[in-house]
Amino acid sequence: MGEENPYANALAQFDEAVAQMDLKRGVVDFLRYPKRELSVTFPAQMADDEIHIFRGYRVHHSVVLGPSKGGIRFAPDVTLDDVRALAMWMTWKCALMDLPFGGAKGGVIVDPKKLSPKELELLTRRYAAEISLLIGPNSDIPGPDMGTSPQVMAWIMDTYSMHRGYSVPAVVTGKPVEIGGSLGRIEATGRGVIYSLVEALSHLNMDPQKVTVAIQGYGNVGTVAHACCEEFGMKVIAAGDSQGAIVGEQGLASKDLIAFKTETGAVRDFPGSANITNEELVSLKCDVLIAGATQSLITSANANTVQAKIIAEGANGPTTPDADKILMEKGVFIIPDILCNAGGVTVSYLEWVQGLQWFHWPLEQINSHLRNLMVKGFNRVIDCRDRHQVPNRVAAQMLAIQRVHDAVLIRGIYP
Ligand code: NAD
Repeated sequence: MGEENPYANALAQFDEAVAQMDLKRGVVDFLRYPKRELSVTFPAQMADDEIHIFRGYRVHHSVVLGPSKGGIRFAPDVTLDDVRALAMWMTWKCALMDLPFGGAKGGVIVDPKKLSPKELELLTRRYAAEISLLIGPNSDIPGPDMGTSPQVMAWIMDTYSMHRGYSVPAVVTGKPVEIGGSLGRIEATGRGVIYSLVEALSHLNMDPQKVTVAIQGYGNVGTVAHACCEEFGMKVIAAGDSQGAIVGEQGLASKDLIAFKTETGAVRDFPGSANITNEELVSLKCDVLIAGATQSLITSANANTVQAKIIAEGANGPTTPDADKILMEKGVFIIPDILCNAGGVTVSYLEWVQGLQWFHWPLEQINSHLRNLMVKGFNRVIDCRDRHQVPNRVAAQMLAIQRVHDAVLIRGIYP
């Protein structure tokens, strides 16, 4: 497995944290592997009247702390190892944030941009039926990830409900508000990234009003993070997506850039900015780099070029372990993914609770819970880092692994 294999990286991070801890060997071995993996091959009717065959996955890494929770990714290059890694990171993220969930993830090998809305619906409903062996409001609760949306969650919820004969809103999170989604869920990950960044700035005695930011990845997480940066007075000077990046030293206005990206499908050629490559974005002179695109984009090949003082990991697994070592030596402050992007699953938890109670909370209450939980998570990580003299990522993993390890021992080994 190479540096860019996210499962190899998730295991390397796990091993590094475990090496600092005094844990029961058998429990460590248990937590190293996914609990169960479902691979499905299924047909879907396409508009050309042909039947196309797709491959999908649903992996449960752990169900020790509660029902498993994790998004579903539709991407042409998604692999079983990606899904395993993402499921494992979900376990640690939920444990770190003190949520009563285990970790899961799903994926389908498909480019959703190449499907018509009807084809996407048929594929989603069939995939939902295939994985309904596993999912349920008390067993495994999917949510959105790259390539899926609130509408995709609505189709999964409806398919599951049709099979039960009654509506089960709590089977998914990230669904539209009209059918039981939570206010603030769409913005939760990007908002949580900025809440954790604001804590980091305060910890490092940096004034948000004087901070410059570059955003790698301009999708759900990146666009919301951009708007939230402005709320706190930070200046976003660069942004990039899969087609390239732009820089505008005087500051990019989120409203205009989001409208431009929505219209043209890319950030490149945004009026008043200069086009740069994604590599140039990573090495830009700025205070904060928000890594909000996808996994393994900061590697040993480019970590040396990073000039930012802080990396906020909006994406899952954006920094490889080899890059981590280089960034550590350079003194870069990393807000690790399982903390930084935990806002999404945190508000998903609030959505799930609302769904189980058939009750709605106002946006102010959601955002205030979110901020409190992000601040608590941040402080727990800093406290653990200081006590054990380890990097932020190792501290975050140690806290999470300890919680799941202890739960296994308290529950006992059946039978
Ligand atoms: P998205 O599909 O909305 O956006 C992804 C963005 O990254 C797009 O702009 C895409 O063009 C860009 N991108 C893809 N490859 C790139 C590359 N090689 N270089 C630069 N940009 C590239 O996805 P999202 O929901 O914003 O998720 C982004 C990341 O955040 C993923 O790692 C996801 O797992 C993680 N995450 C998302 C959520 C959530 O609630 N959406 C929650 C937690 C973690």
